[in-house]
Amino acid sequence: MPAFGRHPTAQAVHVWGEVLLIDCGESTQIQMQRFGVKWRHLNHIFISHMHGDHYFGLPGLINSMSLLGRAAPLHVYGPKELLPIIDAIQSVAETVLTYEFHYHVLPEGDAVLVDNEYYTVKCFPVEHRIQCHGFLITSKTRGRKIVPEKCREYEIPRYYYDKLKQGEDYEKADGNVVKNEWVTVDGPSPRTYAYCADTLFTDSFIKYIKGAHTVYHECTYMEKDADKAAARFHSTAKQAAKIAKMAAAEKLLLGHYSSKYRDVEPFAEEAKEFFENVYASIEGMTYDV
Ligand SMILES: [Zn+2]
Ligand SMILES: [Zn+2]
Repeated sequence: MPAFGRHPTAQAVHVWGEVLLIDCGESTQIQMQRFGVKWRHLNHIFISHMHGDHYFGLPGLINSMSLLGRAAPLHVYGPKELLPIIDAIQSVAETVLTYEFHYHVLPEGDAVLVDNEYYTVKCFPVEHRIQCHGFLITSKTRGRKIVPEKCREYEIPRYYYDKLKQGEDYEKADGNVVKNEWVTVDGPSPRTYAYCADTLFTDSFIKYIKGAHTVYHECTYMEKDADKAAARFHSTAKQAAKIAKMAAAEKLLLGHYSSKYRDVEPFAEEAKEFFENVYASIEGMTYDV
């Protein structure tokens, strides 16, 4: 439930200038406006499961983008039960979207959902009261990084920069060769973000998230309420820390706090005993992966 200024789940993952939206709880479009997340950079939305705190904001966002004249196709990946709901909302209002809407049903197990030049997105099953998926996003390197002043020094024409990014040397008109490593440096290495959605404490999905740089894991409860967490297919902060440790992650982001807790810092304090680099995530904040 929304509480203490906190809204239901939605995360904007920025990869190479694109925004990937994971879950779309109530008021996501309002929060996007508030925090300057541009829907024009959004082409893919991933919905983990059919609990309302993860998708009640989706019909509104889909409609608003149409009212604002969106033209680019939109791809939504989610449970099979979600499409008829979206269809019903649109058909009773006789809505005709201004853009192509593609819905992709998540399989029961793991799968590659997107694999393009810039990143891959995979889904994997977690253990919740109903079927639920986590998502694994891995950015790709975009070749070598140009050092412009070096390129100018060696008088390499601009049109050749793409070839330099692909690692090629440059041969001058006089036959002298400019080695690629003289004018470029290594591009940023790939980074992986694991979003573990809503889940009870289990090592069943470690095999999918092992080696992820940053892990997001829910902690609906503190450890003193571990019995409640287990009964409701949720986790505690301590359990989230154990998952991050098992996954050998660099960083852990916590979230999905129960509305019964006013402060979220105690979640981070509890987790810190088991995993050092942990943040109790707060909406509107940006975290490096
Ligand atoms: Zn749930
Ligand atoms: Zn939830």
